[in-house]
Amino acid sequence: MARYVDSACRLCRRENLKMMLKGDRCFSDKCALERRPYPPGMHGQSRKKITDYGIQLREKQKVKRMYGMLERQFRVFYARAAAMKGNTGENLLLMLERRMDNMVYRMGFAATRSEARQLVRHGHFRVNGRKTTIPSLLIKAGDVVTLRERSKKNAKLAANLESAERRGFPGWLEVNREAMQATVKAYPARDEITIPIQEQLIVELYSK
Ligand code: SF4
Repeated sequence: MARYVDSACRLCRRENLKMMLKGDRCFSDKCALERRPYPPGMHGQSRKKITDYGIQLREKQKVKRMYGMLERQFRVFYARAAAMKGNTGENLLLMLERRMDNMVYRMGFAATRSEARQLVRHGHFRVNGRKTTIPSLLIKAGDVVTLRERSKKNAKLAANLESAERRGFPGWLEVNREAMQATVKAYPARDEITIPIQEQLIVELYSK
């Protein structure tokens, strides 16, 4: 009998990439990609040839899904990245990393970006001492993100942070688990964003 595979895990299998959409499960042997690293179904191992357009579209969909964004929001981010100086693809990635929900995830307060988004919306965080509930807010280098006082007693958040500490934090963040606070020391360089993303494919897609 075919085993049920969560839709997020199915996406990982299709991309053959651990997209880390299910929190702790992604680090365990329950990860669907660890169990069977190819797309589900009878023809899972025989992949159809796709066009250049299809490859570009899939890369964009993958990145959108990873960062949990809708098409309209993603287009706005792209337009802002294209208007900035420098490489549009890298600008886009940096902006995605700077989103408040992503920062909360990277800082270890949440197990997934979607959990981080929900926590931000529910007002659990302060940025430089001010309440912030906007997941798409862009965090700047030097900003300090802290849990509000009453959320510091939240056992789930404490457990998330403990798991994240065991795995290690990115070098561009300074996380103080006792104070439940994290500081963005600097923006990540391109090679510090280690998820396999080919951002130039997204640029090619939107440049058509
Ligand atoms: Fe599922 Fe593994 Fe992908 Fe996590 S990394 S979403 S557990 S397949």
